Amino acid sequence: MRRTQVRVALLAMSALVGSVLVATTPAGADTADATVTAGSERSHLEDADDVRLVHVRMTGADMLDKVVAAGFDLEHGLRRVPTGIEGEAVVTAEQVAELEALGVEIIGDDEAFAWSDEADGGLRASGARTAQAVQPASHEATVRVVRADWFTTKGQGFLYVEARTTEGQQSNPVVTMQLENDSGKDTPFGFARTMSRFVDSGQYMFHRNLFKLDTRPSQIRVTSSTGGVTTGFVSDWLEDAPPPLTSNPGYKWDFVDGYRTPQQLYSRAEEIAREYPDIAEIVYLPNKTNGYQRKAQATIGGTGQSAVVVSSAAWGHEGGNDITVEFVERPGANLPLSVEVQGKAIRVLLAKDAAGALASTAAQVAAALESQSQGLVDRAHPYRTNAGTGIVAPTTGPVALTDFLDQKRAGAPEGEVPRGPATIPVLRIGKHRDGRNPGVLIQAQDHAREWVPATTSLEAAERLVHNYKSDWDTKKIVDNTDVFFILSNNPDGANYSFYNFASQRRNLTNHCPDENADPGRRNSWGVDLNRNYRVGSGHDGYAGGSTNCVSDTYQGPAKLSEPESKNIIWLVENYRNIKFMMSVHSNGGQLFWQPGAYIADGRITTPRPPLGDEAFYWQSASRILSQVKAHRQTVVTPENVGGSSDVLYSSAGNVREDLYHTYGIYAFGWEVGGSVYNPATGNWQGGSFQPPWVGTPDLVSGHSETMEYANGIMEMFRVAADWGKDKKKPTSQLVPGGGTYSGPVDVRFETSEPATIYYTTDGSRPTLESPRYEATEFREPGQVFHVTETTTFRWFSVDAAGNVEKGYDPTNDGKRDNYRSATITVTGR
Ligand SMILES: [Zn+2]
Repeated sequence: MRRTQVRVALLAMSALVGSVLVATTPAGADTADATVTAGSERSHLEDADDVRLVHVRMTGADMLDKVVAAGFDLEHGLRRVPTGIEGEAVVTAEQVAELEALGVEIIGDDEAFAWSDEADGGLRASGARTAQAVQPASHEATVRVVRADWFTTKGQGFLYVEARTTEGQQSNPVVTMQLENDSGKDTPFGFARTMSRFVDSGQYMFHRNLFKLDTRPSQIRVTSSTGGVTTGFVSDWLEDAPPPLTSNPGYKWDFVDGYRTPQQLYSRAEEIAREYPDIAEIVYLPNKTNGYQRKAQATIGGTGQSAVVVSSAAWGHEGGNDITVEFVERPGANLPLSVEVQGKAIRVLLAKDAAGALASTAAQVAAALESQSQGLVDRAHPYRTNAGTGIVAPTTGPVALTDFLDQKRAGAPEGEVPRGPATIPVLRIGKHRDGRNPGVLIQAQDHAREWVPATTSLEAAERLVHNYKSDWDTKKIVDNTDVFFILSNNPDGANYSFYNFASQRRNLTNHCPDENADPGRRNSWGVDLNRNYRVGSGHDGYAGGSTNCVSDTYQGPAKLSEPESKNIIWLVENYRNIKFMMSVHSNGGQLFWQPGAYIADGRITTPRPPLGDEAFYWQSASRILSQVKAHRQTVVTPENVGGSSDVLYSSAGNVREDLYHTYGIYAFGWEVGGSVYNPATGNWQGGSFQPPWVGTPDLVSGHSETMEYANGIMEMFRVAADWGKDKKKPTSQLVPGGGTYSGPVDVRFETSEPATIYYTTDGSRPTLESPRYEATEFREPGQVFHVTETTTFRWFSVDAAGNVEKGYDPTNDGKRDNYRSATITVTGR
């Protein structure tokens, strides 16, 4: 089985320059990158760097952090492999060399990691038993099964296993683990294979495997090279999905027929609010974006030390684009440097020395332009890191400054792009928009080049309003939730992606100092909005946000520096009923929650959600992904579900951490459009940012992804509606229960639904400050207590909706002590 090898319609890997980064646009035309035709008077320096996509392999998170910090574009499509991390980099030809200098391996499509699909490959079970038998009997490492999931897609079965050993951190020798499975109930174990050891940021995580199987196993057995052995039952993953709403009689769907620009998304949102005033309205976010606008610029006078970078004071569309700058050589000798301005025409009269040679340096010309251009130019400086010591050459005529925004990318959608700051509308849908119902925030397209999240969100909105009157399930959603759609949270960047540079990820705000402020860098400016939040921030030392203004994960000059991130905080603070959030991204086929960031040294994550929240996240994920699968059998695999920093990488300052930890909002992150299993080839086929709207075959396709992931969004609304109606108190028990035991006994808690348990063993009354029942380790079930002497447990449980077991009030000592209690009496020998 191969994963993520085949990438549809991306680019010819051999093309070193002028590459095409995106797939076919709605108009069906090929796209070009942002390289524009420079006028004869323009230096080549003004051409934004040509980029291409390469496959890379890094040794691990440490290298990934270095590469990202160095400014490389490495987001999405990243995957953990046994030897490190593989992904894609959008790079120029020189950057390929820089990557290699950082130790990054550039690999071919065929070299990407693939799990073995040999169902009977590897060592036979007898071999594993032999290995176990030769271990010293006194040394028995504990082995635990973390997950063992069975799923099917398009007629093919798969088994995914995660297992841990207490000796996993040991590196000399590295502990190996053998995995066996049976072939159904009461069949023998066999098919031993070696599991992959997963290490992140120097910390052992777990061992794991994914492989094809034709028969569902009932149990697995894991054996470690240090003597531990355990068995576990296999669970189903997304195996019995109820039919999607789209199969309801008369249900209307498939509304979106192509990619949508921000203008199209916003005007449709406003139209929906006008057409369905009973259930929809627009909430305008208060902070306008910094705008689809740029200063008009040129780099002139020569190259290197002789180049002068000129930027207009006015935005290009507000007059900057009308400015011309000419460097003039006059006859004679001993002439001073001066600047003449006539209307919007600037003439720099270059100095000459006693011998009649040109004598103005780039630094001198820049200073003269800043002080003598009568306000037309407010920023002029030498090129990049040069001091500007070179003598400036005359131009052959006036050079027009430009903001480069009027040069449309080939294949860009028709229509005028409004310049200047944008106001972002939130489409709010719900029968009762007064705070009584749980709010769900769907936030799409934080990252500009991710076009499918926007169409997915719009499709979900259309389904709500069109089916409200005719479909009972939809009516229940609209009557019981309060949905807030931000169809594009980055309109400036999205317009840049549609019209100028398809691979734009960030917003358009240029925070760069002079050395990176020349127009050749214009495709590298902007803030990564999903690194700009306050919790687990790069500004506080968390990994995965960059301080480099030309990095694609640039976190911004300060927390919440950008209007787009300020708006999200404004929204959740003004609509306190928002209890659920989905930040919709592409592509990767992943569903995330907390923790999403860590401090690399020691791998210290943001606080892990309590066990009840973790279980609720898994339960919700399973519901949501089952509905995705119900459309055309697309499976988001369990290896790609969980805390994002556990299953992928640390992303400092992401929105999910802030909303969960500051406001208690269940905050999901979604990478739609992941790998799809192709039964014709037996391979998994990877996604892309802008796949063809309709693919051939229709595997990686904007349309199919929009429809299947809109199913998942609808299920998230149902999760929220159920949560809002959940008045049922959880129940819990100690297993085995209280009683008399002749020796030490292992006990654990069980709950009737996702719930967090607070307990004491010291005789005190349990409160919300009491110890919380935790997972054994992350991604595992609850811990086991080894009880060696008589102990009384007192506890209560709280479910995800806040219901407390038996109505116990843990806050008030004067109230009834109706918590749960059990005494384990150990009589000893
Ligand atoms: Zn993204």
